Amino acid sequence: MEVRLGADLEKELVHTLRNRLPYEACGVIMGTVTSGIIEASEFRLIRNAAGHPAAHFSFHPEEWIAVFFEAQKNQREIVGFFHSHPSGTIVPSDSDLAGFVPWRTYWIIGLTEADHEIGVFARESDNYWTPIPLWVVNDGLNTHTALPASSPADPK
Ligand SMILES: [Zn+2]
Repeated sequence: MEVRLGADLEKELVHTLRNRLPYEACGVIMGTVTSGIIEASEFRLIRNAAGHPAAHFSFHPEEWIAVFFEAQKNQREIVGFFHSHPSGTIVPSDSDLAGFVPWRTYWIIGLTEADHEIGVFARESDNYWTPIPLWVVNDGLNTHTALPASSPADPK
């Protein structure tokens, strides 16, 4: 499995999350999945309803339901959940490991005023989080179009 994210979308996502500092922000990534390749096409911010939003997040339930049904209605696939870490780290926290419902991918955007890093993970049944390769694709250059349609590492 691997993930592709357009450079413009990455910029927009990071900008949006940085605007929420010092709080964690969260939401969903929408896109397509073809032969083990997840292609992100858009994202939706969902209000962070955690009591202590600088260190935790939880989806505001009604906003999450609205986004979920909007995606269904428009035949969009929700390919991942994301949230930011104002500490800058992309390592899943203990509450991250404990708190997620099963979904295809989990994105952690480590964010400081100056820098950012994106980690994408898939969760195994034993709750071990496997990092997934992320390609930031620049439309102008298309540097990664030569990738094979399905990677040999993809367990299918
Ligand atoms: Zn976290």
